[in-house]
Amino acid sequence: MEFNGHLGTPANTLAVINKYQFAFQKKFGQNFLIDANVVEKIVREAGVTKEDFVLEIGPGIGTMTQLLCENAREVTAVEIDKNLIPILRDTLSGYDNITILNEDVLKVDIKSLAEEKNGGRPIKVVANLPYYITTPIIMGLFESSVPIDSITIMVQKEVACRMQVGPGSKDYGALSLAVQYYAKPQVILNVPASCFLPKPNVDSAVIKLTRHETAPVSVKDERLMFAVIRASFNQRRKTLANALNNSGEIHLPKEIIASAIEELCQNPSVRGEALTLQQFADLSNMIYDRINR
Ligand code: SAM
Repeated sequence: MEFNGHLGTPANTLAVINKYQFAFQKKFGQNFLIDANVVEKIVREAGVTKEDFVLEIGPGIGTMTQLLCENAREVTAVEIDKNLIPILRDTLSGYDNITILNEDVLKVDIKSLAEEKNGGRPIKVVANLPYYITTPIIMGLFESSVPIDSITIMVQKEVACRMQVGPGSKDYGALSLAVQYYAKPQVILNVPASCFLPKPNVDSAVIKLTRHETAPVSVKDERLMFAVIRASFNQRRKTLANALNNSGEIHLPKEIIASAIEELCQNPSVRGEALTLQQFADLSNMIYDRINR
């Protein structure tokens, strides 16, 4: 290649794009990082070491991948756009610890990959992805039995906020609870739109989700708890009792719901948005006990 050193500058990124006459595809949410400091900080905060196998989702032209290869034992990068594959082979030609897969990550068997590449030990995931697939990917990784150490991911600033907050914030919701049940969220960097090419319409943040070794609350039936959470926030203006009674997902006698809420907080008009993760766990355990009596 004609560029020198790392890709994370506007000039080097443009050199690659011009060399390959690469056309950005909106449907793949392609906004490439052009700020070397941001790239370095993400890789540093992800805590990648020579012991680690790293899965990178959506490598683009390989800007972050280069640094990951320098810091990790082995990297697999999954990129959906076939037009980026020859570019990646070029920009990553100096590394012998990279595997490039031309796949939609939602169709990749990540559990098998972790088994094959890391002997089933927890893997680190690093990603700067289109925002519309962020939540399915994060939830898919946590809910499946993929061994995960951490996920360090660029998200829309508002989404990073939603993942971190608790009751009392308008941003508190099902995503906050799901993320906090599985992991400790920590925003590590705010990233202005000017750090990308092309420039997106929103500001971003990098959040690191470090998987809990043991869940912070004890839950008898996770599916039931998440169904209760979803029902509560689907109709967040309603009382918790009404939201659960109207849910299309949970079909429970009204008396069971009423008596579980009574046992939880003696307040029949409480709203779901006021409950902590611990309270959602308690409530779902109380419902579980009543169903299985
Ligand atoms: N990581 C690069 C960077 O920071 O410069 C590129 C980031 S860009 C926001 C998102 C990348 O994810 C693009 O390269 C896009 O083609 C890729 N992508 C989008 N959907 C994907 C999917 N379902 N599976 C794998 N890669 C995907």
